[in-house]
Amino acid sequence: MIGLRELSPEVILDPSPRPRNFHGMPEANRKAVGHNPLCGDRATVYLQVEGDVVKDASFEGAGCSISTASASMMTDALKGRTVAEALRLFERFHELVTSDPSKAQEASAELGKLAVFAGVHEFPMRVKCASLAWHTMKASLEGGEKASTE
Ligand code: ZN
Repeated sequence: MIGLRELSPEVILDPSPRPRNFHGMPEANRKAVGHNPLCGDRATVYLQVEGDVVKDASFEGAGCSISTASASMMTDALKGRTVAEALRLFERFHELVTSDPSKAQEASAELGKLAVFAGVHEFPMRVKCASLAWHTMKASLEGGEKASTE
């Protein structure tokens, strides 16, 4: 059996060739541009927030398969969440990709499908790829227009 460490994160994630929610959003009222200089990933995250609820989420940009898969799954996960829930998911996702897997167990229980990114923990260089869209989403909710993983 091949150990997790020998697999690339791309193999672990096996992202679908067509990312979900990959489009601009003229009606978005939250938007931020993110950049991960380490890998060259760029992502623009769009949110439509009504009252306290994220009605819609999408993204555009160019990046590696990890950053694209993360943005795709994140935008899916955000729809219908409250702003507070979205920020909590950010915290949980951050714990998942930066913590020891045993400590990240609670985080993964809350993250559902997003828990697949726990494997990224094994690849410190790719943690920023996985978290780029999340940092960008958080920046947009907090009124920022730019996010960097630096
Ligand atoms: Zn990347």
